[in-house]
Amino acid sequence: MHTFEFIRPPDPAAAIATSAQSKTAQQGADVRFMGGGTTLLDLMKLNVETPNRVLDINRLPLDKIESMSDGGLRIGATVRNSDLAYHAKVQRDYSVLSQAILQGASAQIRNMATVAGNLLQRTRCVYFRDTAMACNKREPGSGCPAITGHNRTLAVLGTSDQCIATNPSDMCIALAALEATIHIQGTKGTRAVAFGDFHVLPGTTPHRETILEPGDLITHITLPSPTSGSKHHYLKLRDRASYEFALVSAAVVLTITNGKIARARIALGGVATKPWRSLEAEAALINKSANDGSFHQAAEAALRGAKAQSENGFKIELAKRCLTHALRTAAAS
Ligand code: SF4
Repeated sequence: MHTFEFIRPPDPAAAIATSAQSKTAQQGADVRFMGGGTTLLDLMKLNVETPNRVLDINRLPLDKIESMSDGGLRIGATVRNSDLAYHAKVQRDYSVLSQAILQGASAQIRNMATVAGNLLQRTRCVYFRDTAMACNKREPGSGCPAITGHNRTLAVLGTSDQCIATNPSDMCIALAALEATIHIQGTKGTRAVAFGDFHVLPGTTPHRETILEPGDLITHITLPSPTSGSKHHYLKLRDRASYEFALVSAAVVLTITNGKIARARIALGGVATKPWRSLEAEAALINKSANDGSFHQAAEAALRGAKAQSENGFKIELAKRCLTHALRTAAAS
């Protein structure tokens, strides 16, 4: 394991100033923030991440969940996944988020993992995690053996000829459907980023996964005021019943008025290179009757642009069935 300096910055400004000295905030960063460490430390043990300095931000005042005056929710960067999932307002008003978190990882990992860390979770592509192998994400320009190799668990949406790695998060899929906003403090001040703009597609730069720059510290996320009467469901399909990443998943938030769908927010997990909100599926549902015919049409729309690799074509049909079932379950709830 690469040796590193472990630092506890006294306040966010000190954390940002030290982080700003890193040449990148993406793969290869020489300064990393550490929350729960549930992804970072694994990757450091594998020498996939080799920072020279690790900044422990757990003692910074970023661990509160607070209701906002507009009815929304403010969630600190170092709030633990378990605390968020079991928070009374999350369970009542944003239950898709609670459901998604509780279907991720294990209880022990959820007790450690933080909200901001989950936003930055790295892919489980086996080539990325093995430094003996080429990988464009880990070493730009080295190649992508997954495209001609083992790709059963990898993406069918948002891929490029440089990388087909899947974003593994459950929490992020719910946050995409809830239209969260990510708040960042950096060397030039603070800024708010819509959830859909935070992660980027691999394109020709798969080592770049988010819009973060050196010095950028995620301080909190916010959720908009919940939509009255909305119905939530998160469905995750995986190879085994627990402690496993999604083959496909669907986060659904529906508002149904007089049997018609007035509002739909839909995101897919396990099938795309970033948390995948489907505006196409949402549009297909608006003003339609809440029935299986509409749900099938939405599922077709969501997967219309999917591209199968040699081993993962099954995900396209599985994702359609997953979304259809999630919609059916939400509508019936
Ligand atoms: Fe690396 Fe992406 Fe290819 Fe996996 S899919 S080997 S992460 S470039």
